[in-house]
Amino acid sequence: MARLVVVSNRIADPRKTAAGGLAVALGSALAATGGLWFGWSGRTVRSGDGGEGALQQQRAGNVTLATVDLAQADHDAYYLGYSNGVLWPVFHNRLDLADFDRGDIDGYRRVNRLFAQRLAPLLAPDDLVWIHDYHLIPLAAELRALGCRQRMGFFLHIPLPPPLLLAAIPQHEWLVRSLFAYDLLGFQSQTDLVHFGRYVHDEARAEHRADNVYAAFGRSVRAQAFPIGIDVDEFQRLGEADDAQETLATMREQYARRRLLVGVDRMDYSKGLPQRLRAFRRLLHDYPENRMSATLIQIAAPSRESVDAYADLRRELEGLTGAINGEYGELDWMPVRYMHRAVARKRLPGLYRASAVALVTPLRDGMNLVAKEFVAAQDPADPGVLVLSRFAGAAEQMGDALLVNPYDTDAVAQATQRALHMPLEERRARNDRLLAGLRAHDVHWWQRQFLDALQTPPLPPP
Ligand code: UDP
Repeated sequence: MARLVVVSNRIADPRKTAAGGLAVALGSALAATGGLWFGWSGRTVRSGDGGEGALQQQRAGNVTLATVDLAQADHDAYYLGYSNGVLWPVFHNRLDLADFDRGDIDGYRRVNRLFAQRLAPLLAPDDLVWIHDYHLIPLAAELRALGCRQRMGFFLHIPLPPPLLLAAIPQHEWLVRSLFAYDLLGFQSQTDLVHFGRYVHDEARAEHRADNVYAAFGRSVRAQAFPIGIDVDEFQRLGEADDAQETLATMREQYARRRLLVGVDRMDYSKGLPQRLRAFRRLLHDYPENRMSATLIQIAAPSRESVDAYADLRRELEGLTGAINGEYGELDWMPVRYMHRAVARKRLPGLYRASAVALVTPLRDGMNLVAKEFVAAQDPADPGVLVLSRFAGAAEQMGDALLVNPYDTDAVAQATQRALHMPLEERRARNDRLLAGLRAHDVHWWQRQFLDALQTPPLPPP
């Protein structure tokens, strides 16, 4: 296989176990070809200090890690302003939270151009270039403008919204035109692919020529859904290790007389956390037999704290948690344990396994890996039950979870009640089927599918 070049906003050293399934899968594909991983260094320098755009390279095994520093102002405009102030909310159907005025398209273009300028000299003619996520949509177009002819693929880790929502972004045409600089586009779900097909048909009069091939703007691009998976074996090994076992033992001891429900999310408005807490309150109200027993452990790991919408969300969650605990709490039972802190990845399998139910109820999510990790962490002889939002990409693959509409408080409360009381036989059957699906479509499958498609013969000119 040709040398693989991966580009993402942040890079990870694939040799470190804390890196997670995606880094492990990309790392193994990179290692197999002596590849290059390119991205932002995580460092910002003051504008005008001269350090901006500096390129560093280091070796991690036979993989080269290449990173650039960004000027603080560029980073703010590209990352906070446009990527997370415009693209993230709109792509998650939250037009109300998009800040089109502050979202700095110039900074977004500047950083993508800088990445292209630093990356282009590192590329060899036969390299396969795989670019990741919404921060880097125009990167291939910038590389092409510099004369790069390599095969280039793009994977969108977040959802693609319906055409009318996408069209609310002032630069929507430019963004979609940029996508046609790639040879292959990968989406998380069939829903996203349908949105893409409809958008390019309606707005760009694209011709859908053969299965998965779209022609517009004088170019052809292949678009497909490649739902991302987890590394099931890696996650199960993590579950057997000391840290996870210790967490499991602690949870079982602390909550011996309780039934645990777990939610693990980044603190993000797409995750449906207030709706989830309200559904849990409804559960306690409508099904009083769960009082003194059902205990929700909700982890909300800090994320993008400097974006305003996140501060509002934090206050709302603190208020709701206080209200539920105030209303239903007893001297020896608190219904909600809420933590605005991250839990180390190595401890999560223990927390998942100690829980009877996982509440994974995002309002919109590209995939949602927590849903998959929860299933992988269960004891197959006595597994917990997954309550999953139908608006998570994972729902297309995980029909054996209890699928819910996260906006419907009653329905989520009812599904949670059903999950808490599901007979062992049904829990086992569902878990077995879900786990088989996770194994068949794990992160290594995803990586192979995408790279195989990227290497299929070039498309004929339109
Ligand atoms: N995660 C973690 N600690 C936390 C919260 C989350 O390690 O406190 C991990 C979690 O195990 C999962 C990832 O972060 O692998 C979250 O991925 P997901 O697809 O669920 O959501 P995202 O954060 O990408 O929107």
